[in-house]
Amino acid sequence: MSGGVIRTPDPVDFDALVARFRSLYDAEPDGVWAAPGRVNIIGEHTDYNGGFVLPIALAQHTVAAVRRRDDNVVRVASTSIDDGAVVTLDLTGVREDGDYDWAAYVVGVGWAAAQRDLPVTGLDIALDSNVPVGAGLSSSAALSCVTARAWSDLLDWQLDDETVADLGRDAENKIAGAPTGLMDQLASVCGQESHAMQIDTRAVTITQLPFDLPAAGLSLLVIDSHTEHSHADGEYAERRHSSQEAALRLGVHELRDVPLESLATTLDKLPALLRRRARHVVTDSARVERTAELLLAGDDLRRIGPLLNDSHASMRDDYEITVPSVDTLQEAAVAAGAHGARMTGGGFGGCVIALVDQQDAAAVADACVAAAADGGFPTPSVFEAVASGGAARIE
Ligand code: ADP
Ligand code: MG
Repeated sequence: MSGGVIRTPDPVDFDALVARFRSLYDAEPDGVWAAPGRVNIIGEHTDYNGGFVLPIALAQHTVAAVRRRDDNVVRVASTSIDDGAVVTLDLTGVREDGDYDWAAYVVGVGWAAAQRDLPVTGLDIALDSNVPVGAGLSSSAALSCVTARAWSDLLDWQLDDETVADLGRDAENKIAGAPTGLMDQLASVCGQESHAMQIDTRAVTITQLPFDLPAAGLSLLVIDSHTEHSHADGEYAERRHSSQEAALRLGVHELRDVPLESLATTLDKLPALLRRRARHVVTDSARVERTAELLLAGDDLRRIGPLLNDSHASMRDDYEITVPSVDTLQEAAVAAGAHGARMTGGGFGGCVIALVDQQDAAAVADACVAAAADGGFPTPSVFEAVASGGAARIE
């Protein structure tokens, strides 16, 4: 299915990674672990409102060759960063206000484990990855979760998947300083082949739902706009604040608690801006539930297309988190025959997903590239997302 402008990221070369480990540390790794990136199918900015999200784990992953040490030192090198130079840190010195750059996603896991009174020793780690970095596909969770899975297995912490994900989230939130919900890490740890995960972010429960696109003759394209808004952090903070403010004014704990049935009359109580913000959160969470129903029933997956389009319109008009490059790609995908398309991820750039019949994939990808050129936007890159398994030891 690749060809034309659809280019699947090159696979990680496991043998080369192990060879690099040997040359960096003059020793054999104890094992090799992998954890995937993720793409959210539907339900955006619902996670911090107690609502639903519906991600899949990707076939693209971060791979770690790891050896246990007997002291508190972590040595880590990543082919993606600084030409693979080794970073050396002492775990006992890791603090919430420290600055560890990208290594925060690694040592943060050790810090989080120590907070839970788990026995922690240092590690030697060599990393490689084919998850696009900073594109909204959670390369950060792939990194924190491969670390958490490896550490837990090597030190026999015997943790359930949710706790492994939680170590990754603590590393991101508290040591890397990235305010994410738990979706990214849960998806990376709990992904299953040919399944999407409906996550109830309040109860922290996962329902695995059949999502076998190839069997239905379908393909899910991920179209990376290669644009990023410089004020995305401030915008994210505003949306969180607006959500809390709307919930407060409506007298509910979280926007999750606003019933869909009486939404119109409920929203009348809010000023215009908060009304739009709340409407997005409530309707997008409901769209997750509707999508999950269709998946569970084994319905024609094409029927989720309109829900994807509605979700995009809601993010564009009510939550105001899309940008022109992304709107252009979404429109171009639908005009070229996608059953549905939407921006995915936090917004202000990042990726669009498009649900297409397999035979239309190349034409839709071409149309997106052409539309970006017409609009004067960066050339998008396109690959096919395949619902894949979660973090695991592979050697
Ligand atoms: P996303 O998770 O959407 O890719 P983030 O900004 O949350 O974007 O995370 C990207 C950051 O995660 C990078 O800037 C880097 O600090 C870290 N990171 C991700 N993957 C790797 C990797 N393979 N090697 C080193 N650092 C990585
Ligand atoms: Mg991230």
